[in-house]
Amino acid sequence: MAPLPAMTRRPESRLLDLKEPGAILLLSCYELGHQPLNLAFPLAYLRRAGYRPVAVDAAVTPPDDATIAAARLVAISVPMHTALRLGVELAARIRRRNPDALLCFYGLYAWLNADYLLSEWADFVIGGEYEAPLLALIQALERGEPGPVPGVSDRAHRAGPSLARIDFPEPDRSDLPSPRHYAHLVMDGRAVPAGYTETTRGCHHTCLHCPIVPVYRGRFFAIPRQVVLADIRRQVRQGVRHITFGDPDFLNGPTHSLRICQALHEEFPDVTFDFTTRIEHILRHRELFPEFRRLGCVFVVSAVESASDLVLEKIDKGHRKADVIEALRVLDEAGIAMRPSLLPFTPWTTLEDYLELLDFIEEQGLIEHVDPVHFSIRLLVPPGSALLDRPDAAEWVGPLDEAAFTYTWTHPDPRVDRLQREVAALVERATREGWDNYATFAAVRALACEAAGIEPPADPPRRGHRPPPPRLTESWFC
Ligand code: SF4
Repeated sequence: MAPLPAMTRRPESRLLDLKEPGAILLLSCYELGHQPLNLAFPLAYLRRAGYRPVAVDAAVTPPDDATIAAARLVAISVPMHTALRLGVELAARIRRRNPDALLCFYGLYAWLNADYLLSEWADFVIGGEYEAPLLALIQALERGEPGPVPGVSDRAHRAGPSLARIDFPEPDRSDLPSPRHYAHLVMDGRAVPAGYTETTRGCHHTCLHCPIVPVYRGRFFAIPRQVVLADIRRQVRQGVRHITFGDPDFLNGPTHSLRICQALHEEFPDVTFDFTTRIEHILRHRELFPEFRRLGCVFVVSAVESASDLVLEKIDKGHRKADVIEALRVLDEAGIAMRPSLLPFTPWTTLEDYLELLDFIEEQGLIEHVDPVHFSIRLLVPPGSALLDRPDAAEWVGPLDEAAFTYTWTHPDPRVDRLQREVAALVERATREGWDNYATFAAVRALACEAAGIEPPADPPRRGHRPPPPRLTESWFC
């Protein structure tokens, strides 16, 4: 028999007092090696409403048994695939230690995987702009009201992602581990603590493979400038000397972004920064890049994805291979490094495409600019992905693997799937053993050439025509 919906199975005698310190436990499992903003925002939001939640970043220190036992509501942040995988492991531990605690998952990957989470682990799931629904849920639980709560899915009701603009508080980082526990910027032979903030949420664009699209559907929300600057100020006071702007795309609102960078530079002229933006935006806003450099931008992450125009078209990426070359020229002239992210394994990428991508990386002098894990990335198709709406989806999409949070797919050429597995294992080993990028690149290419039955070319010269780029010590990205 299916379990009763959480909101209805809760007896009235369980009216919850969630104002006690620790009654609400907020957990983060992984935010790309940054101090988790998805804890700092709800902490501030709930404290402003009079609650005293405890926040734990399990990526630094897992929550202890006493903290879990004291919680009546546990909310787990899952903004990305890896975080959800770790979040489910944590949920299993919480269920064992404190079976009475109510469990809520929030964030991008929570909403995409709501059916699975609610059937196996969660009492509640919240997606989109999660702070207001989370507070509404807490208040409903205190009043003992049955659902539905707007913006909150439970086992009896499904809610869409919340897309109402919230009154953003200044993120509260006071209880989080210090920046020395997180990613550092490595540049000019020095490593300095890197902070993280966002100036927007969501994205204006609708690239088919992107997990943001089913949730935000082309919408984005600007976070007020004074909130972003206060957040940066607090991190600089904690010792941060570099800021990663982690917006899905920093140039969705270029005036907003530029003003924030100008204010950052005016107040902290020695603090550098990086941001993520699409190739198309580098070209459209090319005149801004010399100014971004003057203000302290040292690198830009951009989703190059593939060197195949056919693959780029299949995912509606909005650029072609020639645009990447032009974007590199814009950044070179400004003196800003590009750190490309890649999507080299898709149902449409042939073995020849993969070899062409490696050639492109070498020709463009980008071997040191690509974090090797990117050579192994395989397309994920989460529930709700816009790729599923493509007319040809039935030709390549397999069944949903709920527990892996993705639809399965098999490449029509078995050599490609085999190569992906081999490259993933190789890159993992190379990372573990500390190989440099050139050695890893040569080994990846040797595998690809072997799969194609051709002789590998000579190893690339150990210096491209671009200087070694600055980098963060955390290279993973989704
Ligand atoms: S531009 Fe980036 S964040 Fe925006 S939809 Fe495309 S892939 Fe996603």
